Amino acid sequence: MSQKISADVLICGAGAAGLTLAIELARRAIPFRIIEQMQDPFCGSRGKGIQPRTQEVFEDLGVIDRIVAAGGTYPPQCEYREDGSEDVSDVMTLPAPTDAEPYQIPLLVPQFLTERVLRERLQELGHQVDYGVKLVAFEQDEDGVTARMAGPAQEVVERFRYLVGADGGRSFVRHTLAIDFPGKTLGVRALVADVEIEGLSRDFWHRFGEGDMARQISICPLAGTGMFQVQGPIALDGDVDLSAAGLSAILADRSGRSDLVVTAVSWASAFHMNARLADRYRVGRVFLAGDAAHTHPPTGGQGLNTSVQDAYNLGWKLAAVLAGAPNDLLDTYEAERRPIAAQMLGLATSLLEAAKAGLIRRGREVHQLDLCYPGSRLAMENPARDNGALAGDRAPDAIMQGAAGQQIRLFNLFCGTHWTLIGHEVEAGDGPRPRPGLHIHRTGPRGDLIDTGAELKTHYGLSSGEWVLVRPDGYIGAIVTADELPSLEPYLAFVGLEIGSDGNGR
Ligand SMILES: Cc1cc2nc3c(=O)[nH]c(=O)nc-3n(C[C@H](O)[C@H](O)[C@H](O)COP(=O)(O)OP(=O)(O)OC[C@H]3O[C@@H](n4cnc5c(N)ncnc54)[C@H](O)[C@@H]3O)c2cc1C
Repeated sequence: MSQKISADVLICGAGAAGLTLAIELARRAIPFRIIEQMQDPFCGSRGKGIQPRTQEVFEDLGVIDRIVAAGGTYPPQCEYREDGSEDVSDVMTLPAPTDAEPYQIPLLVPQFLTERVLRERLQELGHQVDYGVKLVAFEQDEDGVTARMAGPAQEVVERFRYLVGADGGRSFVRHTLAIDFPGKTLGVRALVADVEIEGLSRDFWHRFGEGDMARQISICPLAGTGMFQVQGPIALDGDVDLSAAGLSAILADRSGRSDLVVTAVSWASAFHMNARLADRYRVGRVFLAGDAAHTHPPTGGQGLNTSVQDAYNLGWKLAAVLAGAPNDLLDTYEAERRPIAAQMLGLATSLLEAAKAGLIRRGREVHQLDLCYPGSRLAMENPARDNGALAGDRAPDAIMQGAAGQQIRLFNLFCGTHWTLIGHEVEAGDGPRPRPGLHIHRTGPRGDLIDTGAELKTHYGLSSGEWVLVRPDGYIGAIVTADELPSLEPYLAFVGLEIGSDGNGR
């Protein structure tokens, strides 16, 4: 194929997954194009729960404070019982933040606000979404992917090195690749609507008819807006009136209250819940990310979070391979992310079963802080460890001190596109040679870091002379002892951090 490459990566779809991937590529100066078939950004609130692990990702992307400012936290829920009594309780168990896990509280941010913040970040990095452009065909060969896109004026054919289908549950990319999407429809159809309701307190997540699938309805104030999100199961078939009058009638019927009048509907949808997982996440130069690869029921607020983290995993790997790392590195994307999605499908489905019985509980299992990649080719321990943090685990935060005396969080050191290697109680000259893309820090005599509260030592379970390597996406890549440091070199070469023939790294 002789056509010139337009950009390295084509991202199809500008939802949470596509936007996150775009930011990751933009931060690494990888040429890409992101297209979206809709004329304008999506305006619904649906994925409104931002889990603690995603908050860590958003810190690294430089948007966490803006996300918090755009939304808020979940209010307590108020359950209205048949007998007229009300029961107010917290929806979630909220442990206090710790130095190792600074984010513990799930945020409530309407999806359109999260996506707005991500788009603004992308603009800061010099890129924007091409709206009104639909991917209508593509084919791949050894060197690239040729994509046909229908734009506002005409169809264009362009060539890219890689294509990422971040194009949602009905993924055109997945269908074109004929990737199976096995799973099941869960026998639940629900409505979700962003509405204005006059006179209803915004201090509670109001829940009526819990445990009764024919009557259940919840009304959650949407932080950052004057709206509420109405959600509830509906009959499996038939039309549903999602107008203001129709929704008011549903609310009156299920709550028994005539004062809950919907005055405006900003967005509304009726959907069947599915739990499905793509058989493959990669075919040659084409990848699936986000809902294109997995669809979950909304229970537990996992879908958007899993989608953001797919993109966060894929972004640095695509960039590394485009810069010369072995192509096999890209296989670790499916190997790491598909089992996570399988786990999430199980969790969201079991929470749906609990919700059907009127049990709303959200504990640590939905926070995604314990997700890890233990069997990954990118998880190396030398020698093998049986306690402390393990390779493949999420890299904990820790509060330390710089040699200059200022307080430093490990997450500050991780923030950016680089890898981080830290030697615990090592000598000044110890460790591998410096190279681009790797930041090396040391504690110990003449180290640039001081482990004042022994947090590095305890959070990672390190012994003197051990080194911990942290990936750009905040997972522990490797832990090695001083004697085994040479074994780090093949690992570093695999991820594109080898020393060049001139001794200076590429
Ligand atoms: C009621 C409800 C509540 C939810 N609550 C939560 C929650 O609390 N927390 C949570 O984490 N998740 C939640 N989710 C799930 C969450 O909304 C999705 O997981 C998330 O939107 C997935 O993001 P994505 O970028 O993968 O896909 P999408 O957001 O679907 O984006 C895909 C984009 O691709 C575009 N596209 C498709 N085909 C093409 C094409 N051929 N060319 C160009 N563009 C194309 C689409 O127009 C779309 O904009 C909820 C979902 C629902 C329905």
